Amino acid sequence: MSCVVLSTQAELERFRANLDGPLQFVPTMGGLHQGHGELIRLAAGRGPVLVSVFVNPLQFGPAEDFDRYPRTLEADRDLAERCGAHALWAPAVDTVYPGGPQSAVSRSAPVDLQTHLCGASRPGHFDGVVTVVARLLQLVEPSCLWLGEKDWQQLVILRRLVADLDLGVAVQGVPTVRESDGLALSSRNQYLSSVDRARAAALPAALRRADPNDPETSVRQSLAEAGLEVEYVERVDPRTLQPCGAETAISLLAAAVRCGTTRLIDHVFLMTRQPLVAIDGPAGAGKSTVTRAFAERMGLVYLDTGAMYRSVTWLVQQNGVDPQDAASIAPLLNDLDLQLRSLPGGGQQVLVNGQDVSDAIRSPEVTASVSAVAAHRCVRQALTAQQKAMGAKGGLVAEGRDIGTAVFPDADLKVFLTATVGERARRRALDLEQRGFPVPERSELEAQIAERDHLDSTREEAPLVQADDAVQLVTDGMSIEAVIDALVGQFRSRVAEEAWPTPAG
Ligand code: AMP
Repeated sequence: MSCVVLSTQAELERFRANLDGPLQFVPTMGGLHQGHGELIRLAAGRGPVLVSVFVNPLQFGPAEDFDRYPRTLEADRDLAERCGAHALWAPAVDTVYPGGPQSAVSRSAPVDLQTHLCGASRPGHFDGVVTVVARLLQLVEPSCLWLGEKDWQQLVILRRLVADLDLGVAVQGVPTVRESDGLALSSRNQYLSSVDRARAAALPAALRRADPNDPETSVRQSLAEAGLEVEYVERVDPRTLQPCGAETAISLLAAAVRCGTTRLIDHVFLMTRQPLVAIDGPAGAGKSTVTRAFAERMGLVYLDTGAMYRSVTWLVQQNGVDPQDAASIAPLLNDLDLQLRSLPGGGQQVLVNGQDVSDAIRSPEVTASVSAVAAHRCVRQALTAQQKAMGAKGGLVAEGRDIGTAVFPDADLKVFLTATVGERARRRALDLEQRGFPVPERSELEAQIAERDHLDSTREEAPLVQADDAVQLVTDGMSIEAVIDALVGQFRSRVAEEAWPTPAG
């Protein structure tokens, strides 16, 4: 398939009028290389791809390389075509900025997201980036915006642009593509002399070899030894871009250097454990369905805390103990060996003291007693301790009422998944109807749900409260797919593809 070259707005509009799928947009400044190629190839798997080539004057400082930035449109078209792009759009400056760049209505990137890393040394750069991308998105109206994780700060800022302005476009990050010696591909690499090119590999090498006890100092030292002039080496929280230390389980160690006259940037993710996600919320908000699906999509283990409380309830019943009798339940917890195993092809096996109880814990008898058993402090404490132990190396998503507050207060992503009482009553009515049960009056269902919320949030042991740093997701009017997409978006704002790749399929 050939890749057409578009320049005017009218040509762009004609192209948009004949799309046969959701439009995928890869904005670039040209000088295309296999890093851009990877974005295009992955985007082409989702729909028709439009690549823009526009060297944006607003994102270059006065002493920067705007005039000598590589302009190689023919070669760009060929590479874009080989990677599966449908069109390459190279707009004129006055298409993007009708009154000229200097008198364009401009936008500002959030101050807190540009006080560190490249924002500190390139004042105005990210304002120029958000201004141009907002304008390009308005002209292109894509379904999905594809961006490289190589420019992590840019990715964070553009995600925020899309979220804050509610632009209704998905944002997809792509891991950095590198040369065989580790150097990240960049249009600016072609400025490097052969001596500098050899030296440039010290940047990724230094980041990779960072001493976990003092990464910034060790990287600075290695860079200086390699003859690279350090602009910054900073460790920041990947989402807030604020400086952090080892208490942040997944952090970004980023650096910018001068190699000869060329400025190079790169980063690594430092991880003290695999990602951890906590999803809390009231009953009936659809937590277990979306958590299970989200875990599978992200290759994380789904920690079904409900199954754990059910397992203890099953054990209590097996031993003929009264579910209300905490003193008799406590000894059972001492020798409890409770295991959750993921089965190949989905599903989960639950073992209590070696016995498979996966089906037994779903019985009506267990369902009837699980709240009483779960309310005991000794049960909560035992299971919370076990959940913490299971989460120590990360790699899981847990769902419950107290996961983000009591169990995994250091989770990388905490979500409070909820829906209005009216919406939950509507879903409950639908569910009862589909399962052939009598459906109470809507007002009665609403009263029951409100009462349960009240009990859950005022109980003494681990009440249901939203963690201060949780993201609230109100799912009224959202499909299950839309909720999962929103969770993925939140996760990817914190954990790069490079650090935790989305499993294939
Ligand atoms: P640029 O042309 O430098 O503005 O880059 C256009 C897009 O390609 C941005 O989203 C970059 O993050 C991305 N990109 C640039 N270099 C790479 C690379 N080596 N690997 C992956 N993505 C890249």
